[in-house]
Amino acid sequence: MQETAGQGIYVHVPFCRGKCDYCGFYSVASPAWRGTYLDAIERETRERAGAFPSRRATTLYVGGGTPSALSPGELGRVVDALERELSFDAGAERTIEVNPEDVTRENLSAWRSMGFNRLSIGAQTFSDDNLRLVHRRHSARQAIDATRAAADAGFDNLSVDLITGLPGQDDDTARRDIETLTRLPACHASVYLLSVDPSTRLERLARQGKLALAGDDELAARFAWTSERLAGAGFEHYEISNFARDGRYARHNTAYWQRRHYAGLGPAAHSFDGRARRWNVAHVKRYADAVLSGAPCFEEEILGDADRYNEYVMTSLRVTWGASRRVLREEFPAFYERARPAWERLLDARLLREDNDHFRPTPAFWIISDALLPGLFSA
Ligand code: SF4
Repeated sequence: MQETAGQGIYVHVPFCRGKCDYCGFYSVASPAWRGTYLDAIERETRERAGAFPSRRATTLYVGGGTPSALSPGELGRVVDALERELSFDAGAERTIEVNPEDVTRENLSAWRSMGFNRLSIGAQTFSDDNLRLVHRRHSARQAIDATRAAADAGFDNLSVDLITGLPGQDDDTARRDIETLTRLPACHASVYLLSVDPSTRLERLARQGKLALAGDDELAARFAWTSERLAGAGFEHYEISNFARDGRYARHNTAYWQRRHYAGLGPAAHSFDGRARRWNVAHVKRYADAVLSGAPCFEEEILGDADRYNEYVMTSLRVTWGASRRVLREEFPAFYERARPAWERLLDARLLREDNDHFRPTPAFWIISDALLPGLFSA
């Protein structure tokens, strides 16, 4: 796999204290294998970094799982391994995902001393009833206090995650969540529409008819007023699920949506080098065994021209900056020409708008993008 100068680094920490009902991310609710995992991360970092020509990292994102479930000593091993092998740009965004119950004064100070300058706080909702229903392990008060404590500790780049459509959540509680968010010292928010992932407890309950979930129309209406309310509070809706104040976009994630290169370390982590996508095995023991024995721990797919076109369309229309006509014309002339009537129809329907030679998505496009995108794709 060809690596390039300067890229985002993602580290997947696959440990949680318990599994939340809706969560489809790879993680295990057991501390077993933590030591072996850390040994493997150190080795994967050493071996992969040698293939980055400049050894330069532009952003770091430690996600999971629950990275904040690692002790400062354990997390320090991850950061030390990265810093031994890579050179981080001055002022590089360095994000760690944290759960509210882990935000203590000691941890805040440890995370800062490790160079993290951005926290992504998993609040999910500010309703204790809804938190309990999906088996989160913190209260609404803890999420609010965690955000304020992080700001007091000097973190000025805070993001808060919420989910709309959780079981038990009605319009009023969803609106109250957004109102609470606007009062927090966060410059970034991710507000996800609940998706029912296969193999989650939520999916099982829904299949058994034991859950009443909001319908598509209700979710679409919430999406629309969330966008409006957050705009009123100074948040720009710059990606389907992401909002930023004062241009404080998530730099690491924005790179994903702009086809920049990134390397993912740890089980289930994905990498992209412009030519191929690769993904590490989503199993902590199999990942660690492979890395520590020098065997491959990943699968890889070389992207063909049609894949690259489809990916460009899908990722560029996730963000407000949109898809460039020039890129479409010059890099994907045949695919673009074939899909051109569909692009024009979306302009006519005002689901896309044209600006500075770009097709830019509207919030109305985002609400139904799953249904619209296939019309633009190469078959
Ligand atoms: S939502 Fe977060 S804390 Fe809950 S299981 Fe998923 S990764 Fe773990």
